Amino acid sequence: MGREMRWWGWGEDDHAGSVSDAALAWLEGELGTLDAPRGAVAWEEVRLEDPRLPAAVRDRFGDILRDDRAARVLHARGKSYPDLVRQRAGDCTGAPDAVLTPRDHDEVRAVLEACAGAGVAVVPFGGGTSVVGGLEPLRGGFDALVSLDLGALDGLENLDERSQVAIVGGGMRAVELEARLGERGFTLGHYPQSYEYVTIGGCAATRSAGQASTGYGRIDELVVGARLAAPAGDLDLRAQPASAAGPELRRVVVGSEGVLGAITRVAVRVRPAPEVTRYEGWMFPGFGAGAEALRRLEQGGAAPDVARLSDEDETRLGLGMTGVRGVRAGALQAYLRARGVAGGSLAIVGWEGPDEAVRVRREVAVEALRDAGGVALGQPAGRVWVRSRFQGPYLRDDLMDRGVLVETLETATTWAQLFTLYRAVGDALRDHAPLVACHVSHLYPTGASLYFTFMARARRGEELAQWGAAKAAACEAIVAAGGTITHHHAVGHDHAPYVGAEVGDTGVAALRALKRELDPAGIMNPGKRLPTD
Ligand SMILES: Cc1cc2nc3c(=O)[nH]c(=O)nc-3n(C[C@H](O)[C@H](O)[C@H](O)COP(=O)(O)OP(=O)(O)OC[C@H]3O[C@@H](n4cnc5c(N)ncnc54)[C@H](O)[C@@H]3O)c2cc1C
Repeated sequence: MGREMRWWGWGEDDHAGSVSDAALAWLEGELGTLDAPRGAVAWEEVRLEDPRLPAAVRDRFGDILRDDRAARVLHARGKSYPDLVRQRAGDCTGAPDAVLTPRDHDEVRAVLEACAGAGVAVVPFGGGTSVVGGLEPLRGGFDALVSLDLGALDGLENLDERSQVAIVGGGMRAVELEARLGERGFTLGHYPQSYEYVTIGGCAATRSAGQASTGYGRIDELVVGARLAAPAGDLDLRAQPASAAGPELRRVVVGSEGVLGAITRVAVRVRPAPEVTRYEGWMFPGFGAGAEALRRLEQGGAAPDVARLSDEDETRLGLGMTGVRGVRAGALQAYLRARGVAGGSLAIVGWEGPDEAVRVRREVAVEALRDAGGVALGQPAGRVWVRSRFQGPYLRDDLMDRGVLVETLETATTWAQLFTLYRAVGDALRDHAPLVACHVSHLYPTGASLYFTFMARARRGEELAQWGAAKAAACEAIVAAGGTITHHHAVGHDHAPYVGAEVGDTGVAALRALKRELDPAGIMNPGKRLPTD
């Protein structure tokens, strides 16, 4: 099953990040006194039922099956705030009856056929990092459920350097893929914040976006072919640069979130590894001015590869949590005041590629950033971001220990609607959390994403209800303001009730028809992607 994370949190035991004392002091100033650290319940206290897999499946797949406590608990759900609340409380009731680890496409097919025959629900499992209830062990009316861990399908099957296409096993970790591509001088350039654990199949299944996706493109733009094992048969979609044969089935597979079948192979576009990377910070007088600068850059064809703009609250949060204090903080504030951008919005922009191309592209962008009122903070700010870019989930564990409700959610809309949506979601969340922050992190010619972080003191014992109220308020605000219910975290279980509002009844019926055709028994990932009846 490869590298396994802590059953109650992020990362492996020997790789913990922790919130500094200075950051905690800042946070207490915002939220009030935090609790003394309290971890998860002891392993012995974790509750789950005895497995009840039909013999037809258990006996046939004995050599690739585990039904011990550890395997079942580790595959019980993903890594959202409510997932972690339940895991930390030792509530693993409903955990999969077994974990199956097929070694190739044919074994995946055999498992799906056996499960369809025996009436066993199947939840495909990649890196286990879903934050939208995508791995929730929902049985959909079936008595038994297995987690289908695709981690053994982890090979770089082919790298066609001339076409710049890599064929990758659906269970290959993004980190491994980057390492293998790097040996040959290539990169995929896909870095979600969960990069350390995600699989390429999981990214394809969720239409993920990485931190440099403004430059490299989202995974749905990078996937040029795929193989899906569905209970009814295989979809084998060869890598094609383009095709006029629509609707494109590749698009059906990408974003299917395990409800149609298991993605066993992905063909992705790769690029030469960058000669140089350059990240730097800019401060804008406000979020509006910064967003306007990014819109102009994007629509003018001059956007950096990484473009992240924090609103004023997230900028404050970032400075508070990274612990810029004392003399350094004083000097920074004095500089920002002198330049008229104190209390403003921080942007991190970055370029990757050949030396000369980065120099030329940066020159054009820098001029536009200055024209829009931006003040350069230089590469040190960029280096701070690079150092901390994958730290968030470790810090979340630490904050949860201290009784902080900390959650993120994301959406996107057109440039014309961006601030209407920003205000609507922010207002909805502020009714539930004193600390609400937002950033734009993915740019498109027609619009951009909005990513919210909110924090509150958790009401011990009532965390799930507290989270549910905030999440529902935000989702309703998103729908009412015309944003997408998800820009990159996917639909999963949590967003499924809002899909109808986005695609309409006919759209939902069309999605259901696809599912009926590929998964007639309805065993694949029940309760996800589609609204339940
Ligand atoms: C701290 C944190 C930060 C995150 N940051 C980002 C981010 O920056 N950008 C982003 O896009 N997402 C982010 N995510 C969400 C998550 O990491 C992505 O959705 C990721 O693409 C999931 O990949 P995975 O391999 O972990 O899949 P899993 O979490 O294991 O599965 C996700 C869904 O896809 C299905 N699935 C998995 N593999 C397959 C397969 N081979 N075939 C069919 N279905 C499959 C599962 O059943 C499930 O419904 C973040 C999550 C966390 C916890």
